[in-house]
Amino acid sequence: METGYVNVAEIFGENVFNDSVMQARLPKKVYKKLKQVVEEGRELDLETADVVAHEMKEWAIEKGATHYTHWFQPLTGVTAEKHDSFITAPTANGKVLMSFSGKELIKGEPDASSFPSGGLRATFEARGYTAWDCTSPAFVRQDAAGATLCIPTAFCSYTGDALDQKTPLLRSMEAINEQSLRLLKVFGNTTSKKVTPSVGPEQEYFIVDRQKYLQRKDLIFTGRTLFGAMPPKGQEMEDHYFGAIRERIAAFMRDVNEELWKLGVTAKTQHNEVAPAQHELAPIYAEANVAVDHNQLAMETLKKVAGRHGLQCLLHEKPFAGVNGSGKHNNWSITTDDGINMLDPGRTPHENVQFLLVLTCILKAVDRHADLLRESAADVGNDHRLGANEAPPAIVSIYVGEQLQDVLSQLISTGAATHSIAGQKLETGVRTLPDFMKDATDRNRTSPFAFTGNKFEFRMVGSQDSVAQPNVVLNTIVAEAFSEACDVLEQAEDFEVAVHDLIKKYATEHQRIVFNGNGYSEEWVEEAEKRGLPNIKSMVDAIPALNTEKAVRLFEKFKVFTKAELDSRVEIEYETYAKEINIEAKAMIDIATKQIIPAVIHYTTVLAESINAVKAACEADVSAQTEILTEVSALLAEARKALKKLQEVTGSAATIPEGREQAVYYRDVVKAAMDGLRAPVDQLEMLVDKAMWPMPSYGDLIFEV
Ligand code: ADP
Ligand code: MG
Repeated sequence: METGYVNVAEIFGENVFNDSVMQARLPKKVYKKLKQVVEEGRELDLETADVVAHEMKEWAIEKGATHYTHWFQPLTGVTAEKHDSFITAPTANGKVLMSFSGKELIKGEPDASSFPSGGLRATFEARGYTAWDCTSPAFVRQDAAGATLCIPTAFCSYTGDALDQKTPLLRSMEAINEQSLRLLKVFGNTTSKKVTPSVGPEQEYFIVDRQKYLQRKDLIFTGRTLFGAMPPKGQEMEDHYFGAIRERIAAFMRDVNEELWKLGVTAKTQHNEVAPAQHELAPIYAEANVAVDHNQLAMETLKKVAGRHGLQCLLHEKPFAGVNGSGKHNNWSITTDDGINMLDPGRTPHENVQFLLVLTCILKAVDRHADLLRESAADVGNDHRLGANEAPPAIVSIYVGEQLQDVLSQLISTGAATHSIAGQKLETGVRTLPDFMKDATDRNRTSPFAFTGNKFEFRMVGSQDSVAQPNVVLNTIVAEAFSEACDVLEQAEDFEVAVHDLIKKYATEHQRIVFNGNGYSEEWVEEAEKRGLPNIKSMVDAIPALNTEKAVRLFEKFKVFTKAELDSRVEIEYETYAKEINIEAKAMIDIATKQIIPAVIHYTTVLAESINAVKAACEADVSAQTEILTEVSALLAEARKALKKLQEVTGSAATIPEGREQAVYYRDVVKAAMDGLRAPVDQLEMLVDKAMWPMPSYGDLIFEV
């Protein structure tokens, strides 16, 4: 193992065509033009693009690149790319040149027909377009394929409909930019020119040994174990969380960090998580679209580097039943170009008023669109976490902490807040609103949406999901609340009175969304129901939130999605759900038929032979062997029956109309049949000779990495 010294500052961003590279390599005029385009969101002209493309190519070739690719994020959950080499047609003397034009940089035309479009793209018009997102820098990725210049792009249909995660994200960033600037302006800010949502996604994952992984067809096909009895020791000792990182994992993490740093990803924090073999990686927060791209790179890098270390990275939300699952905490704030974090309680009473308005606008946004936020975190794997007695609950609520809660309560009951429980001196100059201190209250780990001092932490997102959609929703719903507040404040005769009244109104009308208690408790479920908060337990039930009248109005108003785009996403999500459960069911059938049942039969044969052999040899008591044989045989019969049932219901799925109906069928009928098969098989695993069991156990997988 190489233990050489790494100069982080030197390698950081070395494979990124970032600002300093552009400044150094591009002619001054071109550099200025490009900066302008990035900052003001204008269109890049072909002449400038040609110069940028040429320099980008030269730089990439110096890094060993032979190919370039438009790197995009279709609605499959993973990134897609199609590689083209830089070579041109051979000249008369048989030599090739390396070329890359501005047109190739800014626009690509992948065949869109193999990506999900939910009916947006008629098959006769299969063309799709990728367009350079020049706000996310290009990079060179080095791997077994050599080096490839990757150009982050958005992906649209021929008619301009978004077929990806990035297009709506960029649109939502524009929406929140515009409405935040309006809000700042009514508070007298004339200096801020741009407001950007910042995102820091904390990534959880599992690491297992690759040789063992390869013996588990369920992990290979579905990313999670479909069978598996609990090991004698689980996570009850809590000795893994923040524990010392084992050598093998440490070496892997070191490599991951190095790779990510080279790509300009600010890998910052790493630690062991709650479950054995579970870990976390967090970057330093970045602009939302860059953070989304970087999170995709982080997930790809975790998988790739794990392979090199003889390990396998599992990004599934619930690789092991009964063991803590993995999520992705989406830390979100909104920051101006001159460094003001709008979620930071300020130092002056004036800043505090603005903060309170922002806060209560967010209460309103989340309360009104709790269903959309819940939907943004819905994926098939996440159903095993949200609403399944695991963190966090499926009910969206906001944690604001004791101090803020106290201020809100005073506002609601008396219309003024005159004191603050953290005990600091009150600034009573303006409208009797108190001064705040950051981190005046304890942290709450059970809330799905927690205020953590100067940002919100949305904890529902699944570990393998893109963080794009949660941020699209957050940006847009908050933009809407800001816009409605500005509609009032811009017309107000007495600004101070108006803003005070709005804060009080929002705090009062939306207090039901605030919950500071234990989000995992049964009492909360009952309480939330009394408050009328939605408790959406499955992805299938979350999907309709995407194109309700309320959602269509919201997204169309801020030009984030058209109704057609929303309808298409609904269709894609139902389809994805049905497809994924279908794969799981088929994988179970395959594994049970070809591996587990034969292994159990083998064991019963050995048992029966041993009974006969003992009987023939002596008068010894064989009741123990007989008992085991009887028990195993009974479970085998049960498993066989359950297998038949699963085959039958999976086979019938095709007869159910596609879309919602089929998805509901998979959830209610197929999943139940899967559980029916798993139960006897897991019991068998506890009885059958370990040497004969056809795959590594949970214990082998999570304790012996
Ligand atoms: P913890 O696990 O204690 O919640 P971590 O340090 O693991 O905290 O992760 C916190 C994440 O929040 C990091 O990615 C960090 O960069 C990000 N973050 C910090 N401040 C902000 C902010 N103002 N806006 C958005 N994200 C932030
Ligand atoms: Mg963390």
